[in-house]
Amino acid sequence: MNTLAYIGLGANLGDARQTIAAAIQTLRESGGILTLRQAPLYSSDPVDAQGPVFINTVVGLDTTLEPHSLLDLLQAIEQQHGRERPYRNAPRTLDLDLLLYGTQTIDTPRLSVPHPRMHQRAFVLRPLQDLAPGLQLAQGSFKTLLAGCQDQKLDRLVD
Ligand code: ADP
Ligand code: MG
Repeated sequence: MNTLAYIGLGANLGDARQTIAAAIQTLRESGGILTLRQAPLYSSDPVDAQGPVFINTVVGLDTTLEPHSLLDLLQAIEQQHGRERPYRNAPRTLDLDLLLYGTQTIDTPRLSVPHPRMHQRAFVLRPLQDLAPGLQLAQGSFKTLLAGCQDQKLDRLVD
């Protein structure tokens, strides 16, 4: 059985665009990932983190991986791109979050889906809306949720 999952990607250290591109390429080539669609790139000011601006995007993928196996893959890709966790919310070369896994709700020590903070973050909502404008989020419509994040600076990058 395939499931449509959405992944949020963010990077703010080193060559962030290159890191995002490489991570997406690795995802495409990974076993259990069938199709992948990428939203446009955005830049955002750090919200709960520190350091330079973030580059963000969202990908939607069809996968045969179970949620925790998908998280394993995301964490392996983060490691591959040299992520370190010196302290909470430290600048990071790459952050991959599982935003949505079909319509499932998951609540385990390692995994909360839908991602608990996605509906408060313009850098998730805007690219997710680009990819899937008709998506129904439990917390409200894109329009309402984005209206609540107007104070967050977000720019769409030109290709
Ligand atoms: P954050 O993304 O919140 O800045 P991290 O990337 O360091 O923080 O993730 C911390 C932990 O969050 C991970 O060890 C992971 O097990 C857990 N986690 C819970 N839910 C999710 C999710 N939906 N996507 C990714 N990680 C998650
Ligand atoms: Mg994360």
